[in-house]
Amino acid sequence: MRLSGLALRHFRNLQNQDLELPPEGVALIGDNAQGKSNFLEAIYYLESLRSFRGARDEQMVSFGQDVFRVVGRTTADAASGAEAGEVAAAFQRRGKRKKVSVDGAEPEKMSEALGRLSAVIFSPSDIELISGGPVERRRFLDILLSLNEPGYIAALQDYKRTLLRRNASLKAGHAATVIAAWNPGLIRSGAEVMRGRQAWVASRHEAFGEYYRRVSDGRRALMSYRPNVFLSDAISVEGIQDAFRDALMESCERERRMGATVVGPHRDDVLLQLEDERDGLDLRDYGSGGQRRTAALALRLVEAMTIRERRSLKPMILLDDVFAELDGGRSERILELMETEETGQVVLTAPKEGDVRLRKDALPRWRIEAGKIST
Ligand code: ATP
Ligand code: MG
Repeated sequence: MRLSGLALRHFRNLQNQDLELPPEGVALIGDNAQGKSNFLEAIYYLESLRSFRGARDEQMVSFGQDVFRVVGRTTADAASGAEAGEVAAAFQRRGKRKKVSVDGAEPEKMSEALGRLSAVIFSPSDIELISGGPVERRRFLDILLSLNEPGYIAALQDYKRTLLRRNASLKAGHAATVIAAWNPGLIRSGAEVMRGRQAWVASRHEAFGEYYRRVSDGRRALMSYRPNVFLSDAISVEGIQDAFRDALMESCERERRMGATVVGPHRDDVLLQLEDERDGLDLRDYGSGGQRRTAALALRLVEAMTIRERRSLKPMILLDDVFAELDGGRSERILELMETEETGQVVLTAPKEGDVRLRKDALPRWRIEAGKIST
């Protein structure tokens, strides 16, 4: 996608500025704590309507201010398949109100404004996708599928709502019939969520292994879906519903004891392993720092590939100081991959000029100091 204009108002430490972005992208250079990650956070906010760092909206309002506002203008671009448009997002701290508009109009549902930039962000905290708990990997899947699979976000929201109510009933010790009344809704939405996750992993695990191999130059990595409810391969949505229904039946006693729903996609995981002669080695337990970083990068590359295929355009790539902890060989091969894969505009940040090699050094350099960007 091509972001041509960006207006920033009271976003974190960034000064209020109106910027014109070059078509190929930009490399933003600055010392620590000057606002590089904040800049990418502002851009990615227009894609996902949330912080890529998991910050609450109010944290992004500049200290002492009440409202932040970010406006992005995209330009039509045949080469990347981008369309012209404008997306704006604002958040008011006092009223805790988020306002989003697309081409000047507020969409009926916030979710309709998602994915306007077709951007993927690579950041040092991506390592948590590998080192962190299942919740990190579920969040990755949920955001990716919400942005790329029609119907997923509705099913997910439905599932979460029903789960909350069902759990409240369990906690309050309601009668079995009251608990069971939540089951059809939980099963229907939960099965949609599982189906979406299973299908995505099934269609992308090859690409994940291949990206990992190309960056690490040799060894492959494996990605597999670990649903909490056992599912056989290539199962129909009805099959998933049956499996979920059975699992709920079997866990009746246990969920009464725990006062919460103990089976379902809210307990899913994605297993990421290094290929090994005998069996896979879980990267979470056995991966080195570099191997984990490589796996996280491979996940993001697969995300970019998903956008490319689902939306038929070249994704915008945001790189937050990602080469810092990788050895020279790996960095080189990632750069090569980014050059050869179909990627659109690139915005990258680095503390030192020397870290910027993408696009054969052709990216214009911007500098940032105390939130002020000079172009
Ligand atoms: P590094 O190279 O260390 O990653 P960076 O340039 O990416 O640094 P940022 O994470 O963008 O730095 O943060 C820059 C500064 O923004 C921090 O010093 C932080 O205190 C400040 N900051 C964060 N939130 C706000 C806010 N709401 N209002 C004003 N300043 C903020
Ligand atoms: Mg940073």
